[in-house]
Amino acid sequence: MHFLELQLHNNLLKAISELGYTEPTLIQEKVIPLVLEGKDVIGSAQTGTGKTAAFALPILQGLLESGHVVKRGKKIAAIVLSPTRELAVQIDEAFKSYAKHTNITSAVVYGGMSIEPQKDILKKGVDVLVATPGRLLDLYKQECFDPTFIETLVIDEADMMMDMGFIDDVQKIEKICPEEKQTLFFSATMPQKVVGLSNMILKSPESVDVSPRSSVAKSVEQLLYYVPKAKKMELCLHILRNTVKGNIIIFRRTKFGVEKLEKSLLKNGYQVASIHGDKSQGARDRVLSDFKAGRLRALVATDVAARGLDIPSLEQVINFELPYNAEDYVHRIGRTGRAGKAGLAISLVSAKE
Ligand code: AMP
Repeated sequence: MHFLELQLHNNLLKAISELGYTEPTLIQEKVIPLVLEGKDVIGSAQTGTGKTAAFALPILQGLLESGHVVKRGKKIAAIVLSPTRELAVQIDEAFKSYAKHTNITSAVVYGGMSIEPQKDILKKGVDVLVATPGRLLDLYKQECFDPTFIETLVIDEADMMMDMGFIDDVQKIEKICPEEKQTLFFSATMPQKVVGLSNMILKSPESVDVSPRSSVAKSVEQLLYYVPKAKKMELCLHILRNTVKGNIIIFRRTKFGVEKLEKSLLKNGYQVASIHGDKSQGARDRVLSDFKAGRLRALVATDVAARGLDIPSLEQVINFELPYNAEDYVHRIGRTGRAGKAGLAISLVSAKE
């Protein structure tokens, strides 16, 4: 797709081309038309996908089309909420670069610095205001801006916003804005609490998801045992004794954990070996060929060591601890249930995890 197909104003196209953008990114291709139609949008997208332009360009386009800039004077027409000062500054810079050949202005306000210069900026008037939530509310309480003309509210990095405890502030800001507005909501991840927030503030939104897809074959059954840390070893032995027939990998987070588990299993009479980052390539290769040849019942491994290993399809994967991130989880359990065969992934999860 070319930017021309998105029907953007020539002065925006000029700025985009000067920035060296030749075609829209996926999120831009999907989100820009929806925003131009006036829809509320939920976008699952991480930084780096081009999401800033995905909301900034159609906001600028809307302002150019409606001619509101001229009619209402310099009253805020769009607010962009960002969780951190750094991100807020970046978003403001992006707006400025896209609006370079227009008369639309933007500004950024954030906490942790003197409020007076920010008041002066607002007094002069801007069209687009990028802000961190707390400072924006302070400025509102001090009557430094008039929210009457706000047409668009963007909530960026909603998941981070919630993690940083801004949920109440975001809700307050949403209420300050006029009822009739467009809301655009972006989040890198969509945990339940973020979905809850979006349900509260968006009206029949369109969803756009460009988050990286990692998925697990449907043939993998996933079991989770809630178990105190101290009881994990016992449960692991029970599983080995009672359920596993074929070969199995047990994952742990640390090299230390891997070695400890290997020792305990050996002591209990199991033929196991381990692979982790401190083992030489030769040692890892030997372990792997023993495992493939069926001379070992189980392999104990860290995520890093197991990455890229050509391990045949496994009957079971046990996560002695959950990995630190979702990608690793998907990676681990993808080693079972291959080629349509049934697989089983068991996670032993303590309260702390
Ligand atoms: P963002 O995800 O909004 O933080 O953008 C990530 C980076 O991609 C920024 O440096 C943008 O300037 C750049 N960018 C955004 N859209 C495009 C595009 N269509 N073509 C090339 N670069 C882009």
